[in-house]
This record gives sequence, structure tokens and C-alpha cells, in this order.
Amino acid sequence: MRRSEGPWQRHEKIKAKVNPVRNSSGALNPALRGGTPYGAEPGINLKCNPAAAAGPRGPLARREQRGIISNGVKRIALLLEREYGVPQGEKGADPLDILIQTILSQNTHDLNRDRAYQRLKSRFPRWGDVLNAKTEAIISAIRPGGLAGQKAKRIRDLLRWIKKREGKLSLAFLMQMNSEEIKRVIGEQKGIGPKTIDCLLLFGLGRDAFPVDTHILRIGKRMGFIPEKMDAVRAHPWMVPLIPKGKSLSLHLNLIRLGRTICRARIPQCEDCFLAKECLHRSQYSG
Ligand code: SF4
Repeated sequence: MRRSEGPWQRHEKIKAKVNPVRNSSGALNPALRGGTPYGAEPGINLKCNPAAAAGPRGPLARREQRGIISNGVKRIALLLEREYGVPQGEKGADPLDILIQTILSQNTHDLNRDRAYQRLKSRFPRWGDVLNAKTEAIISAIRPGGLAGQKAKRIRDLLRWIKKREGKLSLAFLMQMNSEEIKRVIGEQKGIGPKTIDCLLLFGLGRDAFPVDTHILRIGKRMGFIPEKMDAVRAHPWMVPLIPKGKSLSLHLNLIRLGRTICRARIPQCEDCFLAKECLHRSQYSG
């Protein structure tokens, strides 16, 4: 006769769902078929355990898996804040400054972006000066950021469009719009993609958005909350519903800090990592 489920079994099941990787006794979470929290998600690589493909499928199973991942992301956000604190955005940041910095950051790293931006601001202190400058002069100023010709044109076109629309060089009008309207209006400008708009929303306008950069993509795949084969473009809409409300900025900045210091691209410092218990990568090596 099959015995009914007691409180301890129910407790174990709940614990297994809350921790995306391990259960209360430290073993790999039995809720994760194939060792990944997103076992049967369409398009996800299951090759680490072909048997995983035999697990339950369908919308309900997928919803349950999303719930497990979402709880895991919540725990990771809290552990990061416990370790690094709650980072604050730049007070009074000008959305236009943020948007132009983000254009300069396309296809390069932060150091080059900062050099390009500082040179641009030192040669042309006001955005009106950039608008009136010769294209060659802008290209020369932003050369350290790479793709200087392309970026100079994007910046000039953007400034022209704002001036024509608003009569002045300001993005203050975006503050009256909701995030979807902003995505539509700014997304119509050439060379401004979803990641650039998310940076504008998050850093320039203080909205809930979650740009996925190389650090976040790498950490997400290692920890198990971003599917192995997903690229940064698809990872953004994947992540947005998983982020606890009001935690976008904190999680974004703290994950980048983790990626620069501990979970580095070439050799992650798993032995010193305070997130090791939550991490699929770590669990694969420590059993
Ligand atoms: S345990 Fe290792 S792989 Fe996992 S987050 Fe930490 S450093 Fe990265």
C-alpha cells in the first residue's frame, strides 16, 4: 500500500524547489532533470544527460521549472547584496549622456568606452558642439572606442533627431513615457538595439530593465539560470521575468562585480566563491 506523503517529504520537496542546484542535504537537486534547472525548455542543450529528455514536458512542467529558476535568482540576488551591498545608480544621471556612453560601449569594453567618452567630452563639452562638429573630428575623438566611423554617425543622427523633435538636446521627454513606449520610440533610431535601450532604461531612467552583458551571460550559464546555448539577445527577455521586483540594478551591477573579481572568464575562483552552493558549474566539479 502506498503511504501518504508526510510533512518531511513535503518539506524536502519545497527545499529542492527553492534551491536551484542542491537540496537540503547538499546533493544535486532532484527537481533538476539532466542537472539543469531548465531541463526540458525548448531549444536547450540536454546533452549532459540524454535521459533528461524523458522528463515531463509541456506548459505546466515548464512553468514549474521557471519557478525553480526564479527562486534561485532571488536567492542569488540576496546573497550578492549580503556580500557586496546594494549598489546605487548614479544620482541625477542625464539620460542623453547615458545613451551616448552606451553607443560608445558597443563592441568594446568599459575601459575603451570611458576613454572615448572622456575624449569626446573634453573636445566637445556640450552635445550641441558635437552636433555642429565635423564628422572627422568626432571620429578622431572617439577612436579609442573602436568602430569610430559607425558610432560617430549614430551619435550625430541621434542628436539631429532629438533636436528636430524637441527643439533642444534633451531626452527629458522620455520620463513621461512608459518603458514600452520608450523602447518603440528609441528603437526606431538606427543602430540602437534592445541592449542599448535597456542600459538607457536602467541607468538613465531608473526603470526595471536587465541588460545582459558578457559577464552576466557567462555567470548565468555557469550557475544554471541561463540556458547553455542562449545568446545575449535572447537572454534578455529570458531574464526579465526572473528578476525580483526592484532588484534589476542591484543584480546587474553585483553580477558584473562577481564576474570581474571571482567568476572570471578564464579561471573562475570557485574555491573562494560565496555562491558555490548555488552554482551548477561548481556542483559538477565537486560532486
Ligand atoms: S562557483 Fe565558480 S563558476 Fe560558480 S559562480 Fe562561483 S566562481 Fe562562478
